[in-house]
Amino acid sequence: MPYERIRAVIDLDALIYNIQSMKQNLRPGTQVMAVVKADGYGHGAVPVAEAAEPYVDGFGTATAEEALQLRRQGIRKPVLVLGPVFESAWEAMLKEQIRFTLFEEDQAAALSAMARKLGTEALVHLAVDTGMNRIGMACTEAAADMAARISRMPGIRTEGLFTHLARADETDKEPTRRQLEAYRRFASWLEQRGVAVSVRHVSNSAGIIDQEGTGWDMVRAGISLYGLYPSHEVQRNRIPLRPVMELKSHISYVKEIPAGAQVSYGGTFTADHPMTVATIPVGYGDGYPRYLSGKGWVLIGGKKAPILGRVCMDQMMADVSSVPQACRGEEVTLLGRDGDACIGAEELAGAGGGFHYELLCGISKRVPRVYVKDGKTVTISDISGC
Ligand SMILES: *Cc1c(COP(=O)(O)O)cnc(C)c1O
Repeated sequence: MPYERIRAVIDLDALIYNIQSMKQNLRPGTQVMAVVKADGYGHGAVPVAEAAEPYVDGFGTATAEEALQLRRQGIRKPVLVLGPVFESAWEAMLKEQIRFTLFEEDQAAALSAMARKLGTEALVHLAVDTGMNRIGMACTEAAADMAARISRMPGIRTEGLFTHLARADETDKEPTRRQLEAYRRFASWLEQRGVAVSVRHVSNSAGIIDQEGTGWDMVRAGISLYGLYPSHEVQRNRIPLRPVMELKSHISYVKEIPAGAQVSYGGTFTADHPMTVATIPVGYGDGYPRYLSGKGWVLIGGKKAPILGRVCMDQMMADVSSVPQACRGEEVTLLGRDGDACIGAEELAGAGGGFHYELLCGISKRVPRVYVKDGKTVTISDISGC
């Protein structure tokens, strides 16, 4: 078996399952944007987009490069870059009909000029800031006037209007309700000004799961696509999801250590009794977080093996004193299922004070992604340059 050292197994059937599961909880006809930024949250943007394309209405990326990569690999459905892009990337985006996020008049004027010069039209989604204070025009009538002026600029076609929810994953829905109310107000101001917008979208995964803001034309699914819930506070039983990524390795070395022996850099762990220690050939160079030093655990033979001392760049050690079958070559589950036991990204990242989104998108390019569909390996990402 190749890639014994470490591999990320990406279950494309789980991906499709998650999309269908969300759709069953949305009003029929609601469009779904698959958010594939940060290389598809570490799962591989292109294979994820290829598998998802028949089931979704478009894609969201964070950068122009990510959007262009999808186009170069043959993705034809709409792609929106969810944030502002520097002018140097505009021409390439226009040529590939990539959608722009716009909220400033001078940028709009410059984009209008460039689109006209190239004899094309820029497809634009206006961003309105309803409380996140990250990007977007103010939620005021003056900004609605500006939006109307932007929409009338030649070479600009206003296709969408969106906002982003800052706190939809919390139990207290009051801040979200305020954002939704502000969005609704802004949308009606645009209507009053005769600006027709066909794709209005608000909900992220948390909104989809807790049904906040899903009544508009489209939703934007990120973490839920990959089978994880945005937080502990959302109503998990509403939409069943299956984690898409598993991380597997194998033991490279097993030994006994006496009481008093220290393990790994800095001697942060000292054995207080004789122990059996397994070395696992995975470290933070693979994106396995160093903050899990002394806090994380792996599964071997269906049993929990705690990480001893610091996670190194390329290796780490685990306590296998109570795992009799631990020997060189034995499978190690870093993330995912082993028998009846399972390690979830949320639970693991949480144990070290980390964040599951960050854990996933941090899995490095040195880790081959093995794509599985109908129980069979369909592709393996190229790691020859790593
Ligand atoms: C990342 C992002 C999303 C997806 O968020 P999830 O919590 O992963 O669903 C949606 N909309 C915007 C604007 C984003 O930046």
